[in-house]
Order: sequence, then C-alpha cells, then structure tokens
Amino acid sequence: MPPRENQEFTHALGIQPNAIVHLYSDTKHKGRVEKFLENTIETCRSDAKVIWNDNVEESYRVGRNGQCDLKCIDAAKGPMYYEDHLPIATFENVQKGARVVRGPGWDDYNNYDGGRGYLGTVTHVVDFRGTLKQVVRVQWDNGNIKDYSLSSHCLRLFDNGPSGVYHEGYVCDCCPTKEYIHGIRWKCDTCHGFYLCNICYMSDKHDLGHIFQRIVAANVREKMQTSREHPGSPVKRQSYGIFKDATVVEVAPEKRDEKPGTVIDICGFKEDTGRSEVEVIWGKDGSKSSHRILDLEYVRGGAFFYYYDQLPALGRGTHLIMLSNDAINIIKQ
Ligand SMILES: [Zn+2]
Ligand SMILES: [Zn+2]
Repeated sequence: MPPRENQEFTHALGIQPNAIVHLYSDTKHKGRVEKFLENTIETCRSDAKVIWNDNVEESYRVGRNGQCDLKCIDAAKGPMYYEDHLPIATFENVQKGARVVRGPGWDDYNNYDGGRGYLGTVTHVVDFRGTLKQVVRVQWDNGNIKDYSLSSHCLRLFDNGPSGVYHEGYVCDCCPTKEYIHGIRWKCDTCHGFYLCNICYMSDKHDLGHIFQRIVAANVREKMQTSREHPGSPVKRQSYGIFKDATVVEVAPEKRDEKPGTVIDICGFKEDTGRSEVEVIWGKDGSKSSHRILDLEYVRGGAFFYYYDQLPALGRGTHLIMLSNDAINIIKQ
C-alpha cells in the first residue's frame, strides 16, 4: 500500500456509530447507533477432534455454523436417550447446526439416516413464508443429505447445543462443572429450582420418579406427561453417529486422501462474530437495545472516513469495495 498521506480521503455513510436507523420491522421509531458490539457465540458439542493415521490431530465442525465436515465410515455409540422425551423438531426449536434423529412421523423409506437412533445435522432451514411448508436439510452422519418437511413430524431434536443455544444463569445440578447449561434444559417439577442438562437427564441423574419440564429455548417449554421410570414410560434408545471412537473421513477432503481417522473427542467452540451487531438508543424513550445490522435500515448520519484505495475490491470489475469483512458491510464504489 502507498503511504496514507498521499491517498484520497473519502467518507462512508452507513450503519456506523451515530447513524440514525430504524428496524425493518418497525419503521416508525428511529434510533441512533451507539456502538458496535463484540459478540461471541459459544457452541457446545459442535466440533470433533480427529486423529488421522499419520498421528495428526485436527478439529472439524459437527454442527457448528450448520456445517458437518465429517462423515462416518463406522458410527460410534453416543448417549442413550428417552425417545418420547426428545422434542419433535419444529420451526420454533430447530436452528441450523441442531443435531437430530428420526421422529415418529418418519417417512423416508430409503432410510437415508442409516437407521433409528442415527444422528444428522440440520444444515439449512427454509421457511416458505405464507405457507405451512417448513423444510430443513439434514446431512446425516453417514454423509447422506436430504430435505425433510417438519409438518410430518419426521425428526426429533437430539441436541441444540451445537446451534449455540445455552441458558444463561442456569447450571446443571448434577454436572461437576458450573458452566451454564448448553442445549436442552430440564427443570424438575417436584424439586424447587432443580435443573439438569440434557446429558444428565438422559443418563438417569436425579429421582427417576420426578416429572420434568423440558426447556428447549427461552420460551419453548413443555411439561412431560410421564417421569422416566413410569410403567408407560418412554423407550430408551441408543444413539449412533459421529461420537468418540467413530471412524470418519472428511466430507470434502482437501489435504488428505480418503484415509479414515478416529474421533477422539467431541468439544465446544467459542467464536468471535466480530462487529455484526450494534447497540441502538431509541428516540422515543431513550431505551437501548442491540440488533443485528441486517435487521436495521439506515436513515442518515454516521459518516466516517476511510482511505478509498486501500480497501480491497470485491473481485475484478465489481462496483463494490469491502469496508469491513467482520460483517456483511459493503459500500458502493
Ligand atoms: Zn449435567
Ligand atoms: Zn426432583
């Protein structure tokens, strides 16, 4: 780059501190952008550590960002689960990255999943607005990919920890770590203020005669009809897929040939999403709230200066240059 003092100085307009904005969903009220927020997303059980036969260890996404970089040659056994206590996948509770198993309305006669209890990752969620058609794309751990309509109840949500769902302020009363619960949270209906994480609930922690409420996300909760040991209680099943000891290959091998590796650990991930959210102070009452840049429409103000020629052009012959690649933030050339 040439020295900055010889460069033309230009100013940019857009969603920047001091810009006046309104929400796309509420154009009446205007607010002023206070600052960009540094955001981290913490996902749980979203990555697999693999050891390859040349003893190199590497981590791969298994759910994180709605991606699964691995497929099983040999699935490993995962945790047991009370089938009927897993929520049926709906638009309310499924996000990209969620891990799913087949549900009561399973109608995929080709059994792309590989069988009952075999896991897959939700890679896309498609909402056909105005219709009742709600479709998710699942990449099964065996590598098969298929679209499923949620209205047929063909999937159950096995774990939404990899989507980044966690319950701030709530810790599992049976886990030694005192981290907030990631994924599905269980609240005992008998004992006051007693919570379990999904792994502890499914592995029979706490009194099996107690009925629990299942809390999938902040406002998505449901009381179970039975306890775990009730005579008519749900069948406990074995899960299979990309778990510890599974034999895997990369879905899209880049560096190595198709020699399989072994999963040695399933772990979480902390990711800095950069400046993709801003804090807005609203004119009507002075209240503050944070919003994704994509939810806001720019009205005016918020100029800042930049060195025009020192920002990368987005490909040859385009009319756009990149202002910041932390967020999708583009200005016209
Ligand atoms: Zn626990
Ligand atoms: Zn209890």
